[in-house]
Amino acid sequence: MTSLVPSFDRYQRQMGLPGWGRDAQERLRHSSVLVAGLGGLGSAVATNLVLAGVGRLRICDADTVDVTNLNRQFLHKEGSIGSRKASSAMDTLASLNSGVEIEPVSSCIDAGNVAEIAGGMSIIVDCLDNFEGRYVLNRWAVEAGIPLVHGAVWGLEGRVTFMAPPRTPCLACIFPNAPPAGSVPVLGAASCAIGSLQAMEAVKYIVGQGRLLEGRMLIFDGATMRFCELELRRNSQCPVCGRVGHGKNRLPGGSGKASSV
Ligand SMILES: [Zn+2]
Repeated sequence: MTSLVPSFDRYQRQMGLPGWGRDAQERLRHSSVLVAGLGGLGSAVATNLVLAGVGRLRICDADTVDVTNLNRQFLHKEGSIGSRKASSAMDTLASLNSGVEIEPVSSCIDAGNVAEIAGGMSIIVDCLDNFEGRYVLNRWAVEAGIPLVHGAVWGLEGRVTFMAPPRTPCLACIFPNAPPAGSVPVLGAASCAIGSLQAMEAVKYIVGQGRLLEGRMLIFDGATMRFCELELRRNSQCPVCGRVGHGKNRLPGGSGKASSV
């Protein structure tokens, strides 16, 4: 599909960032990103990635749009209630940037389909709302050597970190056991803030600029407007990434720097 807007003009303001330029935009154009989950986090992540001009965006969610989603999931509109989230999201995203190839997947990620859904991606952004799916995605990402940006939100708070073992812990290192399941109150502005940070990490990785949240978890408390940072350590006994050693799954570039794809 041909964009109505000249392909590079629309990215002029971000191409002007120090060290970015046309090369960064070409990297984005040749990248592919999986956004797993199209709720509050996924709405912010997918929107930001489409606006930034990633080449291919695979969007995955098995749910249908419910009226209770509409306080935060801005990919979906009142007229989308009852529709598949993947389909609703695709309609919105396609209207924002016709130059991005969008691949909707209406499936629940499990061990049987994760390779098909996540295969061939430059990076995965975890916007799921359940640890069952998060653990499946984490295990696959570790084994495939594909980085994963983890994000979560509750109330006015949220967290984000960049995972790429062996340089960082994996999700199972940090959360050996899943927290209790169930819906939690969420303000749309909080999921939008955390999702935007996740998108920023994905873009930085693709472009190869900035310092990623490797081995660091950024915690945001919207009630006090404070950010804090936790240092994360790998669990050498981790059943998922414990055997991932040097030379395997190693990202190019210096430690702590964003890496290009
Ligand atoms: Zn681990």
